[in-house]
Amino acid sequence: MFENLSERLERSFKILKGQGSITEINVAETLKDIRRALLDADVNFKTAKNFTEQVKEKALGQDVLTAVKPQQMMVKIVHDELAELMGGSSTDIELNGNPAVILISGLQGSGKTTFTGKLANFIKSKRGKSPLLVAGDVYRPAAINQLQVLGEQIGVPVYTEEGNTNPVKLAQDGIKEAKSKGHDLVIIDTAGRLAIDEEMMNEISAIKKAVKPHETLFVVDAMTGQDAVNTAKEFNQRLDYDGVVLTKLDGDTRGGAAISIRSVVDKPIKFVGMGEKMDALDVFHPSRMADRILG
Ligand code: GDP
Repeated sequence: MFENLSERLERSFKILKGQGSITEINVAETLKDIRRALLDADVNFKTAKNFTEQVKEKALGQDVLTAVKPQQMMVKIVHDELAELMGGSSTDIELNGNPAVILISGLQGSGKTTFTGKLANFIKSKRGKSPLLVAGDVYRPAAINQLQVLGEQIGVPVYTEEGNTNPVKLAQDGIKEAKSKGHDLVIIDTAGRLAIDEEMMNEISAIKKAVKPHETLFVVDAMTGQDAVNTAKEFNQRLDYDGVVLTKLDGDTRGGAAISIRSVVDKPIKFVGMGEKMDALDVFHPSRMADRILG
């Protein structure tokens, strides 16, 4: 994870290492190198620019030039600014409600269905809730089947209605079912498409309006870099979701989406997917993520 970026940043910091005396030119060179590393990691252009400006201000303010260990000082400043850029602290999901309703959105292939299973598994084991999953991708039998397989793996029931092609009604029925069976959490998986289209957006907006979820999450593939950021922006404009889930972070060598999303979309990353298995889910901690980026 983030191997390319970590290596590049390490090289940037070396500019400051072992210098007799650090000059403003060394600092400027380091920052230029850091900015290039961020852009190569597919970080949003404006985000990278603002970031290096912030770091510069801090570095000069804290007198990196006269510090005994300028390199360490710079690493710490970059670490703290990275954590801040990714949201500062972790953000929880809203589970108050009986049942609490969580709506899952995103493009097809982003990892929505996998995440739906992981989230149910996570909340069931860590928060002691009794979830019911709703297979809302009514157009793709394979997607319904996939959720059923996952449900079985984690011991969580999946609500489906044969022949129902109305996802709004299905979601409402699923919530009724949860109430009658005593489930205190409903997670609704929805249909995604390969690219954003009006029909998909209308459908997910209609579900959101009808069921008024306590939490709406947007799932996106971290490996798609700036595309992920742009998709996150468009979904947010239509859906005003509560949080982002970055999937496939285990395969992301660059880190651009993780670093840019918060500053571009202004919604917190809440979870990260770290593999295909049901337990490969982590709560997103900006500071720990900054640790990993800096190696
Ligand atoms: P959906 O179409 O959005 O529901 O996407 P799926 O849940 O079917 O996921 C698409 C593919 O990505 C599947 O092969 C998943 O196993 C895989 N996948 C999902 N999340 C992760 C993850 O965090 N890491 C990795 N490596 N693969 C993932």
